[in-house]
Amino acid sequence: MSSETAFTTESESHALELDEADPLSALRSEFSIPAWQGGSYPERAYFAGNSLGLMPTAARNAVEDELEKWAQLGHEGHWSGAFPWLRYHEAMRETSARLVGGRVGETVCMNTLTVNLHLMMASFYRPSAERFRIVIEDSAFPSDSYAVVSQARHHGFDPEAAIVRLKPRVGEHTLRTADVVAFLQEHGHSIALVLLGGVNYLTGQVMDIQAITAATHAAGAVSGWDLAHAVGNVPLSLHDWEVDWAAWCSYKYLNSGPGAIAGCFVHERHARNPEVPRLAGWWGNDLEVRFKMTPDFVPRRDVESWQVSCPPVLSLAPVRVSLDLFDRVGMAALRERSVRLTGHLEALLGRVAASRDVEVITPRDPAARGCQLSLHVPSGAKELSSRLRAEEGVDCDEREPNVIRLAPTPLYNTFHDTWRAAAALERLLPARPT
Ligand SMILES: *Cc1c(COP(=O)(O)O)cnc(C)c1O
Repeated sequence: MSSETAFTTESESHALELDEADPLSALRSEFSIPAWQGGSYPERAYFAGNSLGLMPTAARNAVEDELEKWAQLGHEGHWSGAFPWLRYHEAMRETSARLVGGRVGETVCMNTLTVNLHLMMASFYRPSAERFRIVIEDSAFPSDSYAVVSQARHHGFDPEAAIVRLKPRVGEHTLRTADVVAFLQEHGHSIALVLLGGVNYLTGQVMDIQAITAATHAAGAVSGWDLAHAVGNVPLSLHDWEVDWAAWCSYKYLNSGPGAIAGCFVHERHARNPEVPRLAGWWGNDLEVRFKMTPDFVPRRDVESWQVSCPPVLSLAPVRVSLDLFDRVGMAALRERSVRLTGHLEALLGRVAASRDVEVITPRDPAARGCQLSLHVPSGAKELSSRLRAEEGVDCDEREPNVIRLAPTPLYNTFHDTWRAAAALERLLPARPT
């Protein structure tokens, strides 16, 4: 057993220098970073942004502004102030579109993710006796799995027959694009919908959205994407990739708070088409006719026609300021920093792996992953992550029995954070028997 550590004051200084040299390091000051009470450093090294992103300090003011308006004005708030409530969601039209590479009118902030998956499937899962299957990943997030199973049942199909779960090859952790494409070529005639994660929540793998969408269309099926782990993490071009629809939550990389209002994309070729069936509510028709209170639904010719209810303004306020921040920095610059930050963590983990039993199961090619690295550790992932939290001030999360996930986010994590995480793992993991 070696007591030698790969983590010296020299490697720590190097991490600090990288932080010093990076102009985007200043963005961290726009976030509330949890303190590490009584710890060796004043702040926690927070790697759980893939689960709940930290609070932009602007979020508090944005919520307080609307509370104040409510207190002062009552229903007048619908029409007055910088962001009249009647039009509050419009403040996110452009920023949400730019974030995902959509056009204005293709994106909307509404509801929560799984609710939006159901609303989208109500429109875009229209099974027939011949074409009724839904393709997901075997490691799909459980909520997505429940959603598609219940949709199949809702239409009278046996989920055993209707739901196809794609598995990686034996001995591999991630799906190969070519295998997905080959599957669609072979079985496409029976498939109604392909619903995959843009970034897999467990492994951090980025899917080739463009190639799989093209293969889905060639098979005659609809292409839906769950972007919970992709949005705000990797650059997206949903319009140009011809994606039919997508949905995402805003509390992970979008830092909009617990249970934040989610987002949704519908390609304009569907969004403009009033023949596409939609579950309707009054907020889906045009503002011009909404308050005429007529019995007929006249859908807007854009994605906002899927809005069912009036939006919860207090929950939208943090989404608005968070999207403004992404828009100000731009995904290209964030991604560039993200690749370096995750690469630095990966290199440091390589040093840990020299003497400890730890393996990165996320793809090693930076183009095939976002910021998250998933680590395969000896069983007891939960205990490891609890100790990281309690003894080292390092927040990450775990998937029992042996995966922990670390997501260095480019907006608020530092190179020094990655150094702390790696040094902590070296301390806590048992030395590998030689
Ligand atoms: C986080 C996440 C969800 C969560 O769904 P909610 O409806 O927001 O509770 C669903 N799907 C995926 C892939 C996720 O990563």
